[in-house]
Amino acid sequence: MAVGRPNAAEFNLVEEVILARYLESSCRLCRRERMKLFLKGDRCYTDKCAFERRGYPPGQHGRARAKFSDYGIQLREKQKVKRMYGLLEKQFRNYFESAEQQKGITGTSLLMLLERRLDNIVYRMGFANSRSQARQLVRHNHFLINGQKVNIPSYLVRIGDTVQLKEKSRQNRHIQEAMEAVARRGIPEWLEVDQEKFQGSVRMLPTREDLTMPIQEHLIVELYSK
Ligand code: SF4
Repeated sequence: MAVGRPNAAEFNLVEEVILARYLESSCRLCRRERMKLFLKGDRCYTDKCAFERRGYPPGQHGRARAKFSDYGIQLREKQKVKRMYGLLEKQFRNYFESAEQQKGITGTSLLMLLERRLDNIVYRMGFANSRSQARQLVRHNHFLINGQKVNIPSYLVRIGDTVQLKEKSRQNRHIQEAMEAVARRGIPEWLEVDQEKFQGSVRMLPTREDLTMPIQEHLIVELYSK
């Protein structure tokens, strides 16, 4: 695969200039989806995790046994993945449409596109404790891609790209904390990180087997194919 800057079409995939934001608390999203989405960084690994304490959906009927239709199951799966990556509906739909145009299995292509986002890569490399923190750090110009300033969280990285923390950002407390904490979740094998040089590179793109989150992407394809 060619290595280099993304083309205009890829940049068209990018989200609007506004940040994707959910007004609901992150922990409520986990409870709603009945699983840990790891949206709050280090806190997710402690006993302060709201899902560990109350692992049922919020609201008056949260503890009631839920019966989902096929549509409901597909919808929840889509919402779960969308929230995991911190995207709005329109952005997520754009990724799906782009995945549909690629060769191969649409659901897998969708996940690969999401994984290639720069904010996800920064999180996976351990320069941030969560994708939302990574997104903010990218927007605040803390990183260089192949030596060039890039502050677009949806930038799609390619094989061989290097992601480097700017020199003046290396003392950033949040980044240092994240770099210390990453050992807890580990860095995927498809990425290579040199913490002493404050940089990482994309060795290869992930395969479906590399993504261990419990996602049934075929349900998302079924939902959008109706
Ligand atoms: Fe989800 Fe627990 Fe993290 Fe809150 S602390 S975002 S409930 S995993």
